[in-house]
Amino acid sequence: MAPTVRVRFAPAPTGLLHIGNARTALFNYVFAKRERGRFILRIEDTDAERSSEAFVQAILEDLRWLGIEWDEGPDGKGSYGPYRQSQRISLYRQFGEQLLQEGKAYKCFCSRERLEALRKEQLSQGLMPRYDGKCRLLTRKEISEKESEGVPFVLRFPVGRGTVLFEDLIHGKMSFELSGIGDFIIIRSYGIADYNFACVIDDHLMEITHVIRGDDHLSNTPRQILLYRAFGWEPPQFAHHPLILGPDRTPLSKRHGATAVAHYRQEGFLPEALLNYLFLLGWTPPSKEEFFTIEKLREEFSLSSLSRNAPIHSRQKLEWLNSHYIRKMNENRLLTLLTPSLEKAGIKVDQCEKKYLLEVISLLKENITVLSQVEEYLGIFFDEKFAIEEEAKKILKHPENQKILQEIYAILKESPKKGEGSWASLLLKVEERTGHKGKSLYAPLRAGITGKMKGPELAKILPLLGQERVMKRLKIALEGEDP
Ligand code: GLU
Repeated sequence: MAPTVRVRFAPAPTGLLHIGNARTALFNYVFAKRERGRFILRIEDTDAERSSEAFVQAILEDLRWLGIEWDEGPDGKGSYGPYRQSQRISLYRQFGEQLLQEGKAYKCFCSRERLEALRKEQLSQGLMPRYDGKCRLLTRKEISEKESEGVPFVLRFPVGRGTVLFEDLIHGKMSFELSGIGDFIIIRSYGIADYNFACVIDDHLMEITHVIRGDDHLSNTPRQILLYRAFGWEPPQFAHHPLILGPDRTPLSKRHGATAVAHYRQEGFLPEALLNYLFLLGWTPPSKEEFFTIEKLREEFSLSSLSRNAPIHSRQKLEWLNSHYIRKMNENRLLTLLTPSLEKAGIKVDQCEKKYLLEVISLLKENITVLSQVEEYLGIFFDEKFAIEEEAKKILKHPENQKILQEIYAILKESPKKGEGSWASLLLKVEERTGHKGKSLYAPLRAGITGKMKGPELAKILPLLGQERVMKRLKIALEGEDP
């Protein structure tokens, strides 16, 4: 029987979760679910200076928000822990010592200055900088002399000659010449394991079967395979997916706008939209359907169907997906999601009539692409936020427009209380009496009644506001007063 699939997402908590990393997490998660395997979250925090607990917590929160739940991880689940590299340091030292004893690693005493000079020299000759193996050739005597002098050292892994071949589940056959790779550090002078070393030990001890990660790690894979061989361990299968690029085809970075999941969340993107978007980048489902849920992905996803071409980030596409999910969402859930922004804007949600709130939301959801945009429209529905924008004021000043507003005010005054259905006939009547229709009628009406130049359909706003409030606003517009 094939072993249970075990995959891992291994972020370094040196910043907020980037959408590129979230995409890696998502591929791992969906693959694990599809294969009925386990999804492991491992925190790679060996870089104590740049890692922080606040970033660990932020990453966990963002993953949860996206609905990517781990089966094993730093919060106590799983029996392959600890799941933080900072708690596994003695393990790495032990394995480093083992390689040293077996003659599969050596102590390197080269100073930073020597390495820097070597690097410059190689670069000036147009060579790829790499360690020249000087300390690999030290005699026992030289080594013990340096040790007794207390010269600090690192542990290096001798790479040797030849070629490393492996089959990548996305890219296919990969081949790396070892002559291009210098003997690399496995344990640093201050006793901390380097990424490649810690990663191999953890992936092995955690029984990881598939390593799914970004193309930026492709060049690490031959080093890792060499370490597996040195230990006599079976390497996992590897799948490297292309990284997201910005519209200028350079790796997606802050220069291209928001890159952190947390920023998209704050702006009011929905997790289902972001997930859908991240998957659509570089993956076309067999059904060609553009909208899909995680459940659907589980059925259709396979690593080999991921594109080998780097996807280009498109905020426009993300917004388009987000507005789709907002429109599809039921008003009650939307109200729950919007409540913090409403409260922040000064609307006392628990003092509002729920039916009214839900109706407002059902109108607004047609107009917004991100949740935070509701703020722009609150003045239409909540008197305490009502204000007339400058552009609307200009329209209202026009004498012809004043006439239109007077006409509608007069009709409203003479008509009995408006029922819901009668607003359409009222608008027809105004058309008849003023001879205006289309934009020349609706622009001043919208400006007067909502204080804005755009927003949800006027014919739907009117019944929601009701006759009394509409008249009040018309009066303000006619008298040219600030509300
Ligand atoms: N800590 C590495 C990163 O964040 C993990 C790479 C890997 O998945 O092996 O890029």
